[in-house]
Amino acid sequence: MKKILSREDGSRQTMEILKKYAFVLKKRFGQNFLIDPHVLDKILQAARIGKEDLVLEIGPGIGTLTQHLACAAGRVIAVEIDPALIPILKDTLQAYPNTEIIHSDILKIDLEKLIQEQNQGRPIKVVANLPYYITTPIIMDLLEKRIPLTSMTVMVQKEVARRMCEGPRSKDYGALSLAVQYYARPSVAANVPPNCFMPRPKVGSTVVQLDVYDKPPIRSIDERLMFQIIRASFNQRRKTLVNGLKNSPELTLEKEEIQSALEKCGLSADVRGEDLSLEQFAKLADIFAQK
Ligand code: SAM
Repeated sequence: MKKILSREDGSRQTMEILKKYAFVLKKRFGQNFLIDPHVLDKILQAARIGKEDLVLEIGPGIGTLTQHLACAAGRVIAVEIDPALIPILKDTLQAYPNTEIIHSDILKIDLEKLIQEQNQGRPIKVVANLPYYITTPIIMDLLEKRIPLTSMTVMVQKEVARRMCEGPRSKDYGALSLAVQYYARPSVAANVPPNCFMPRPKVGSTVVQLDVYDKPPIRSIDERLMFQIIRASFNQRRKTLVNGLKNSPELTLEKEEIQSALEKCGLSADVRGEDLSLEQFAKLADIFAQK
């Protein structure tokens, strides 16, 4: 595969490869391949990759982004679930000796062990045009397991990107915003229209840059409890925080103790989850944790 010069060229080269291998695109694996060179450049710029970096690519597809990554990085490890893509990748990446293909489901790999063996435990960078059917599980799995990462540069649905990046009192702010922002600083690197992919997805996409914190920006006595409270607060979005927490099957809190905790935080009794910052959620959870 040669360097893609334009979207038309990307489309033609992708078609040629699919035809050569009689490859049938699989919707169930979220296979929407990138064909636009400008988007590939934007992903690389956002990821700020250098020769010192080991990059993990999730879902390399036919290897278009992988080739770009291989030119910029020291090494690229690409994990692909679809067995039919492995021979194609061996072909398209044969001129890139600093790439390694692993045939596996990214959610089943022991990444901690992989990073220990391949990078002596030093943090790596993740870059991916993610399969949209499992975007959130992949991102949260990597963050919650505290896999040693410097950053994640990921293409996701536009709507998911908004949910990750928003702050209090926005309609897209919710449990995902807080979970992501506890572990990383998110920012939008580029908005990408459907015609940059083959086949075209039904929705717009966004490249999100997640710079992973060494330590969370706020301290919480009981992280698990804090996230239970966050989930309960957004489960019934239209309800007040008091009702959301009281009705949660995960928590056993009485109305009076919730009201008293809110008062201690300087919050009114009719406040909603979407009004609270991460810091305020941590403070509220600390009050319950200390009981
Ligand atoms: N990186 C390529 C590109 O940008 O053209 C392909 C991106 S495509 C949106 C998503 C890729 O992830 C597909 O190749 C798909 O087969 C792969 N994939 C889907 N689920 C996966 C999983 N659980 N683990 C690893 N790869 C997966």
